Amino acid sequence: MSFVNFQGVTKSFGATVAVEELNLQIEQGEFFSLLGPSGCGKSTTLRMLAGFIAPSTGRIGVHGRDITTLPPEARDIGIVFQNYAIFPHMTVFDNIAFGLVERREDRATIKRKVDAALEQVGLSGYGERYERELSGGQKQRVALARVLVIEPEILLLDEPLSALDKKMREEMKFWIKNIQKSVGITTIYVTHDQSEALTMSDRIAIMNEGRVLQIGSPVEIYEHP
Ligand code: ADP
Ligand code: ADP
Repeated sequence: MSFVNFQGVTKSFGATVAVEELNLQIEQGEFFSLLGPSGCGKSTTLRMLAGFIAPSTGRIGVHGRDITTLPPEARDIGIVFQNYAIFPHMTVFDNIAFGLVERREDRATIKRKVDAALEQVGLSGYGERYERELSGGQKQRVALARVLVIEPEILLLDEPLSALDKKMREEMKFWIKNIQKSVGITTIYVTHDQSEALTMSDRIAIMNEGRVLQIGSPVEIYEHP
């Protein structure tokens, strides 16, 4: 039994079939990418896994549990979008602590977890800064830390690099990959950029018009496109 399991999942918006008969198995600890052009159904797939939208038909399982109809807050899933929204009036520390404060964790635990998260993303010593004092890549790492600090069992990354310039994108590719490896968190990464998928993933699913055309390791995908 795979960790994440899409079984015959279809999602339609009116006459538009965004995702069609999707069958996808993702293993625990994997860095799995959904690669394909704009409009092929990548975000819809992530949003169904996160619980923001419901499949029209089919089932989604995580860790052997059917989560198809669970609300987002009942799922153990963290998501980072391309437009990481950092609260500008709060310090980096308070941004990362936000979810822990909501969960009413005690101050000592919050301090310990936020410090660990800052270290994970290479931002130790940046806790008292504000958004305006950070580079694009640093902001994206704060967004990542804010999700990791909650310790979700799955991390969803939706085009997390597309707001960054080319140099910063290259740098962030390695950050994301290294953080994912050291935390060991099951990660699903959405991108239209083939080189991002090839350099970071354990496996890649190539999507087009709502369907998966091919699944394989970067080497398999590269050699048999
Ligand atoms: P991608 O993430 O690969 O760019 P999406 O999953 O966002 O693709 O979209 C897949 C298709 O579904 C597109 O044709 C898009 O216009 C359509 N779509 C996505 N969300 C909605 C929605 N809320 N209402 C109507 N159509 C949608
Ligand atoms: P992404 O870049 O992640 O694919 P989009 O810009 O396609 O996101 O979509 C942003 C939001 O608009 C999402 O909530 C999506 O469901 C919705 N959406 C996408 N396509 C359509 C559409 N054709 N009609 C209505 N809503 C849409």
